[in-house]
Amino acid sequence: MRKIIKNAIQCKLCGEIIESTYRHEYVECKCGSCAVDGGHDYLRRSFRDKECYTDLSVTVLLTEYKIERLQALLNPTTTLADTFYETLEDIGAIKYHYHDYMTTEPINADEELKRLPSADYDLCCALITMLLREDHFSNGSFGERFENGDVTPIVEKMIDLLKNSTEE
Ligand SMILES: [Zn+2]
Repeated sequence: MRKIIKNAIQCKLCGEIIESTYRHEYVECKCGSCAVDGGHDYLRRSFRDKECYTDLSVTVLLTEYKIERLQALLNPTTTLADTFYETLEDIGAIKYHYHDYMTTEPINADEELKRLPSADYDLCCALITMLLREDHFSNGSFGERFENGDVTPIVEKMIDLLKNSTEE
């Protein structure tokens, strides 16, 4: 699977470069010969003649994209839960049913974190989601977790597991 980084074409007739940056952004070139749509979700082209444009789209392997985004979390600009949540949601790493992965009831985050060394990718996602949910109930706790070194090993493990996985 590939992730779309840039969804753009250049019209050979009028020379205009047009780009769709979000899902429902339909953009037509100024001479009306071609158009792009789909943002970073799908590459849709409309045209009078298939030969009338040059494709300038950029895609990367989804695994590489995930690794790149996770690496940014090793030296994050902020340690706010929102920053992490946004990135993890973008790469599909939020486990909305993280409870299903837990072994303690009620959840004891420190106990669950001890499972990290043998965790697979899904469990890593569940553990980091758990810490983000903890922040939701106890505002600011995620930043403390980060400072205490609880977060980085999870992100590093996720990167390692992705690097060792077969590319999709
Ligand atoms: Zn044109």
